[in-house]
Amino acid sequence: MYVHKKSEALQKQADDVILGGVNSPSRSYKAVGNGAPIVMDRGEGAYFHDVDGNRYIDYLGAYGPIITGHAHPRIHEAIIEQSSKGILYGTPTELEIEFGRKMREAIPSLERVRFVNSGTEAVMTTIRVARAYTSRNKIIKFEGCYHGHSDLVLVAAGSGPSQLGTPDSAGVPKGVAEDVITVPFNNLEDFRTAMAHFGDEIAAVLIEPIVGNFGIVEPMDGFLEEINKVAHENGSLVIYDEVITAFRFTYGSAQQLLDIEPDLTALGKIIGGGTPIGAYGGRKDIMESVAPLGPAYQAGTMAGNPLSMAAGLACLEVLGKPGVYENLDHLGRMLEDGLMDLIRKYEIKATINRLVGALTIYFTDETVTNYTMAEASDGEMFSKFFNGLIRRGINIAPSKYEAWFLTTEHTESDIKETLAIVEEVFKNDL
Ligand code: PMP
Repeated sequence: MYVHKKSEALQKQADDVILGGVNSPSRSYKAVGNGAPIVMDRGEGAYFHDVDGNRYIDYLGAYGPIITGHAHPRIHEAIIEQSSKGILYGTPTELEIEFGRKMREAIPSLERVRFVNSGTEAVMTTIRVARAYTSRNKIIKFEGCYHGHSDLVLVAAGSGPSQLGTPDSAGVPKGVAEDVITVPFNNLEDFRTAMAHFGDEIAAVLIEPIVGNFGIVEPMDGFLEEINKVAHENGSLVIYDEVITAFRFTYGSAQQLLDIEPDLTALGKIIGGGTPIGAYGGRKDIMESVAPLGPAYQAGTMAGNPLSMAAGLACLEVLGKPGVYENLDHLGRMLEDGLMDLIRKYEIKATINRLVGALTIYFTDETVTNYTMAEASDGEMFSKFFNGLIRRGINIAPSKYEAWFLTTEHTESDIKETLAIVEEVFKNDL
């Protein structure tokens, strides 16, 4: 069993200087028994090495972006090469034009695009653009979908689909929350009720077309088509938050996978090859609402910075090679099948949702199709599972419905090693 002495000592120091010891709350181990988060020393392909010298197979993938594994040589080389030419210009560059073209080739609905620095910024701006274009204020979003930490998306559902939202974080004004209606994912009836009630006030319907934030949850047949139809009948725009999904399941986004297009799209994570990035884009006439062409303001000192453009281009180059997604799917299936065999063998109450190289284990016996069902996953079981894995060399997110992300660097032998460790945990810890 791994010991984490140095991690624990460092985490005490972190607590003294960094608020809560972490720079993002999801990194805390509060939800899994309050242990000290493991302090990593270096990443290498599919592996992490911590400060105590332990080695982990990594399925966190930095919450998604690291689809080509840690320190991928092509991305490393692109960053070094660009850094020798300057890391921030504050002027246009050829790189951003090339990257913009590559993005549009992969996701044709991006008739015009803007690069920003995070998924939060990307989503926040699509909402502003939709509000500017429609001259309306309200949005509809879906329960359990996460869209970053701007005020408008930190809003909880009211008591039903015809009720306004309430703040989901201290510091979000009640007045802001009242511009947001939150309805359950995969529930067309509630969506239609919300639209019937507020349709002519709705600037946009904001959705993760394939959910990545309460595990991997796919839309039921016809769900997204109906959202497009009803939204457009009411003069509302549709925004896809593809921060997690773009380039995750295919070279492109959920739009290519599901053969459907929104009006605006928000992107982030994978597209920066692990560097800070966000992007948003969509229909040209809508995007023309943005400064300097239109009245909606969005800017950024770091926006489109050459390092992120170079790393993003290198990442797309790696992902564009033949067989990448087939291999992710193959390994994903192998992991899912192996885990399901163990779940049956040890009679664990658990189900798995998987798409290509991303999967979630829920400690519940019903197939998860919405947030309420994901929330029903047994947190105590997950804590035992998580702590068993982390002490034996598997790194996943300390959250009961965060996905496991495979990378281009994982191998069949990593999956076999993972399954052997999971068996140990099922046998001894659950
Ligand atoms: N949208 C989605 C779907 C996300 O998963 C995330 C991050 N988990 C965000 C937006 C926010 O992105 P960032 O953390 O880069 O601000």
